[in-house]
This record gives sequence, structure tokens and C-alpha cells, in this order.
Amino acid sequence: MSDRPSDSEDLFALPQLESGAPKSGFPHPEMFPLAAYQIVHDELLLDGVSRMNLATFCTTWVDDQARRLMNESIDKNIVDKDEYPQTAELERRCVRMLADLWHSPDPATTMGTSTTGSSEAAMLGGLAAKFRWRKRGGKGIPNFVCGPVQVCWEKFARYFDVDIRQIPLRGDRLTMHPDDVAAHCDENTMMVMPTFGQTFTGLFEDVAGISQALDDLQDKTGLDIPIHVDAASGGFLAAFTAPELVWDFRLPRVKSINASGHKTGLAPLGAGWAIWREAEDLPEELVFNVDYLGGNMGTFNLNFSRPGGQVVTSYYEFIRLGRVGYNRVQSATYSVARHLASGIDDLGPFELIHDGDPLRGIAAVSWKLRADQTFNLYDLSDRLRTRGWLVAAYPLPADRNDETIMRVLVRHGFSRDMADLLLADMRRSLGQLDKHPPTVPLTREEAGGFTHSATAVVSTETLRHAAGLDR
Ligand SMILES: *Cc1c(COP(=O)(O)O)cnc(C)c1O
Repeated sequence: MSDRPSDSEDLFALPQLESGAPKSGFPHPEMFPLAAYQIVHDELLLDGVSRMNLATFCTTWVDDQARRLMNESIDKNIVDKDEYPQTAELERRCVRMLADLWHSPDPATTMGTSTTGSSEAAMLGGLAAKFRWRKRGGKGIPNFVCGPVQVCWEKFARYFDVDIRQIPLRGDRLTMHPDDVAAHCDENTMMVMPTFGQTFTGLFEDVAGISQALDDLQDKTGLDIPIHVDAASGGFLAAFTAPELVWDFRLPRVKSINASGHKTGLAPLGAGWAIWREAEDLPEELVFNVDYLGGNMGTFNLNFSRPGGQVVTSYYEFIRLGRVGYNRVQSATYSVARHLASGIDDLGPFELIHDGDPLRGIAAVSWKLRADQTFNLYDLSDRLRTRGWLVAAYPLPADRNDETIMRVLVRHGFSRDMADLLLADMRRSLGQLDKHPPTVPLTREEAGGFTHSATAVVSTETLRHAAGLDR
């Protein structure tokens, strides 16, 4: 390290900032913290503005108290239950609160855990179903039946050697339809897995209808197939804004639910939940005991060390907002979504798929292009990017991947005014595309990588599998 820079020295004139940042090979020399900070800080200026990232489902706005609690918890490991018993206690309170919110028959005694997000929670829900199936005498490789899923379920299937049976889309049906479920189930079906707030369109799948279809199947064949609900973003919405929708533990067949605290739960990134209907629905083989205040506490996670701040901040959000506050926040986002949807409809070239109706889906808008346009949705996405808006365009999943759609997630912090600014930029972009029609429309890859990461990827494996099931 060269001599300490004096106060009068200009940061950008330091030798360390004259050469580029180390990029490969572990660097040898030290750097002043301020110089290193500036290099990292400045490089990140090229990232998109998170609140203008309308492709993400995740929290991009938190209040000052949440930031303070995150900062105060930065050094606490949630796995150290004995050392940080109150963080552990807050997690247990959150589990009981969510079990209550989602109508578990006995919220005080049921099982649940925080996770890093819905992906980990999905793996845990899926593993519990696999263990229960095996306990009932299942042999070989089990399967689960679902509609178009988020990529974490493809991962779960591959990592844990389970068959995924995605019911192919048909025509205008963009969700798993109850009528199609029974035909895909057999004695090796360990669960049916509806998505409550689909990644592609934002639409809710009909959990109650699917449960009824499985009741009918049981009456006919004796097969008793449980449901796990992927409520990644729907779980923290419908519970407040559409309480009459029955999708949760009110249905006895629903044995477990995953949700992302860091999406509509309003917690910062890194928060998810897996909750079981009753304690007996979580097989004991999945539970490991750790020391806790001289006693024992069951843990069931894929990670060992994990930051504690996400749970602390989730608890803060739960008690700060309560049912009344969550209802107000989520109703406001839905109202912005509906306003945006009607504005998009008025623009002309689009056909809405989901208009932000709280009874039909999450606070999002999705749409497709009417036929015979001189541009495609990737061109539009690219134009909007010049103003800083990140709006995902992507093909629908298997069997309907001839169709491209666009989607905006309306989240806490996306105001009506921002929606109007976006609409004005959409109108301007359409004018430009009209005046200068692209001679060669953009492809998905050219439109930018973010469209890819914004949605689930349907693997060729799934396509093959779906095709096989059709036979
Ligand atoms: C986001 C999402 C996931 C993955 O959740 P993470 O919290 O990002 O791990 C799974 N399923 C659905 C339906 C989602 O929207």
C-alpha cells in the first residue's frame, strides 16, 4: 500500500484509481478502503434502478426502520438459536402468525420455518411430500403434477430426483385447469402443486377447484393426493385483499404452503417461509435438533448459517402493519395495477391477459400484442430501457411458446404517478416504433438478459415429458 492519502488528495487522482479495478486473479496489493469503496460503488452505477425494475417480484422499497433493523442484525446468524434466542423467538412468532393468517387448524403447534426465499421453501415442501409418500409405501421415483411453474420446481425435480409433470397449456387456458389434473395423477403422485400467482401471467391457479378434483379422484380410485401451494407472491396478497378466495389450509388437502417474505411480504431480500398445515405433515426425518436456551429446537433448512435480519424485519413488518396495514398497502398496489392496465388497454396495440383484478391474480399486469404489428414486444422492451424502465418480455411456456407476452409487477413503492410516467413512455415508444418500424425485429436474446432471468425457464426435459404424457 502506498502512503496514506492526505486529506487534500483527490480520490480520483490516487494511483489505485488510475488503473482499472482488478478483474481476474486474486489481487496482490492492498487498497485504501475509500478507494476500493469508490471503485465498487461506481461500477454499480451501471446496474438498473431497482424501483424501475418492473420485472422483479421482489421488494425494492423498505422504510428506514426496516433498514435500521437490518443493519442492527447484520452480525447475527439465525442458526445460533442458543446465542440469539430472541431472534429465534421472533421466527417462531412469525411462523405462528402465518399459520394463523393461512388458517392452519392449530397455528400454535404447527411447524414452519423461515428460508432464504420461496425456492428453499419449495424444496422443503417438496421433500416433505416425498418423505410422506415414501412412508405410505411409495416405491421408485415419485412425481408431482403442476401447471407452468417457476424454475425452482424444475430445480427441485432435478436435484431431488422427482418427476415433474407439467400439464401442457391448451389454447387460452394459461393456468392448470382442475379438469386436467386427475388424468396426470397415479399412485406415484406425491402431490399436486398449484401456483397461487403464476410467474408468467400473474394469474392465480384454482386451488379450491383442484382440491375438489382430487376429492373426486379419491372417491373414484382411493388415491389420496395432498396439495402443496406455491403462494410465493399470492400468499401475502389474497389473505388481505381477497379473503373470500379459498386457497389455503381451509382446504384440508393443502398440507404445506411456501411464500416469499421478500416479495409481497414486504421484507428485504432473503426472506421466505414454508408452513405446514399441522405438525404431523412435516416428517420427523427432516427435522434436526439444535441447542436452544439449554433445550432443543427443531430446524429444517437447506442452509446452515443464514442472516437473521430478514426474520427480524419480517416480524417488524407483521406487527407494524397488521392485517389492516397489509390490506391498505396491498389494496393500493392493486389500485395502481388496475390503473396501469386500463392505460395499457387504451394504448391500442395490446390485449390484456391479467388486468390486476385481486380475485384473479397478483398485483401485476400482463398483456400480449395484437396481430399485425410492425414491431414485437422485445422491441418495445428495448425502447423502454432507454428511459430506465425494465419491463420483461418473454414467450409463454411449452405448447404456447409461439406467443410472447409482457408483464409489469406492481409493488409497494410503485405509485400511480410512476405508472403514469411509464404509460407516457410507452406511448412515446409506440410513436417511435411506428415512425421507424424495425426492419429486423429484435430477438429475445438481443433485448437483454434481464428478460430471461425475469421468468421461469422451461427445460427441454419438461417439453419432452409433457409430450410423453400426451400419448
Ligand atoms: C419468485 C417465485 C418463486 C421463487 O421464489 P424466490 O423467493 O425468488 O426463491 C417460486 N415460485 C413462484 C410462483 C414465484 O413467483
